Amino acid sequence: NVKEEAMDTEAKEALLEKDRKYVWHHITPHNENPMVVVSGEGSWITDADGNRYLDGMSGLWCVNVGHGRTEIAEAAAQQMKTLAYSTLIQSHVPAIELAAKLNEWLEGEYRIFFSNSGSDANEVAFKIARQYHHQRGKPSKHKFISRHRAYHGNSMGALGATGQAQRKLKYEPLGIGFTHVPPPYCYRCPFGQTKGSCETQCAQAYEDAIMWEGPESVAAIIVEPVITGGGMIVPPDDYLAKLRAICDKHDVLLIVDEVICGFGRSGERFGHHNYGVRPDIVTMAKGLTSAYSPLSATAVSAEMYDSFKTNGADSHFRHVNTFGGNPVSCAVALKNIEILERENLVSRSAYIGKELLSRIETLGEHPNVGEVRIFGSAIGIELVEDKLTKEPAHAATVAAIIAGCKQKGLLIGKNGDTVPGFMNILTLSPPLSTTDDEIAFIADTLL
Ligand code: PLP
Repeated sequence: NVKEEAMDTEAKEALLEKDRKYVWHHITPHNENPMVVVSGEGSWITDADGNRYLDGMSGLWCVNVGHGRTEIAEAAAQQMKTLAYSTLIQSHVPAIELAAKLNEWLEGEYRIFFSNSGSDANEVAFKIARQYHHQRGKPSKHKFISRHRAYHGNSMGALGATGQAQRKLKYEPLGIGFTHVPPPYCYRCPFGQTKGSCETQCAQAYEDAIMWEGPESVAAIIVEPVITGGGMIVPPDDYLAKLRAICDKHDVLLIVDEVICGFGRSGERFGHHNYGVRPDIVTMAKGLTSAYSPLSATAVSAEMYDSFKTNGADSHFRHVNTFGGNPVSCAVALKNIEILERENLVSRSAYIGKELLSRIETLGEHPNVGEVRIFGSAIGIELVEDKLTKEPAHAATVAAIIAGCKQKGLLIGKNGDTVPGFMNILTLSPPLSTTDDEIAFIADTLL
């Protein structure tokens, strides 16, 4: 954690003054003195004081190929010079190439609708699902079932699908027709079962909800392969396959939100590949461009897309956004995927996770560590006040650990809502290019 050259004190103070006056920071209490990040290289970012930090969360679970990739910058510059903008009412080369590449990565036949953010991608999924049922003569199928603890975005529909009260309370009512079922949270099983010896009642909960709502009213269910932002909740191995079967039985669509789990984070190209399931709709963002440029996509099965071709003039999807599928972002995504492939970063992700886990194994014995959970290179460490009662660790304990790691040069995250308002799960999702030395640094810092 070597210190780099700091910004001139006066220049920094002037910058902070403008920040205090003009910038509204995301999802954080009013902050007079934020860390001002000025550069990034590999797994590291540097702030205005010259402090270097290992970006243990890849920003917001998104900078999968790491910082400072000049070849991505060059691809963006080249595309800007060639064609900076075109709508997708017509078509353009980077969007065509990217849609084809995503089909290769998805290992299935999908039509790709491009937007700007993960929230957008999910909104598009909801609208397409509703229209799809309309076009099949089943307009009453309009509801969506999601899970408590899930996070699907910040816009009204995506927040409606989200299952974390604290994120929603001041903004309700939200998207109409969203209901929630308990998560597959084995550490605190909502059905009082023991991990490994249950009948996956958490999957059955979806079918129960469909029956209570009435199958003729349910359009789709939405799940992340693993609930990430809600506290790294890893389901039983057969959970997703069971949801697929329930969806097939009740003519309900399966939407898989791969906004975090996609593009190698899970140790496979997409999170659902770990479970051998084919979704009807896959949403993605973040790792699609490693956040070098905003872009998201909603991949819709070819079978579903066919119903948008066959019903005459009225069957097109009446949805457009100005920036979705921007040529520069598509060129960035193509270069990003090229790097993921060339450097084998998907398998590197699985390696990083396993290596980190083996190095921090002894953490499990710590009196305040309830459970360590992992999915590819995404890790959650659930902190408790007491191992027996599982009382979630208090905010001050969590804050002290995060601050301690930061002081030693490691940025980690916190997530949760274990009990509404309790963010007692430490999270890590380092860049997939993280080196062996950096893995050792992360582990040593955590220990
Ligand atoms: N879905 C999941 C699983 C996410 O974690 C997020 C963001 O963290 C979103 C959707 C929303 O993505 P965005 O912030 O790009 O709107």
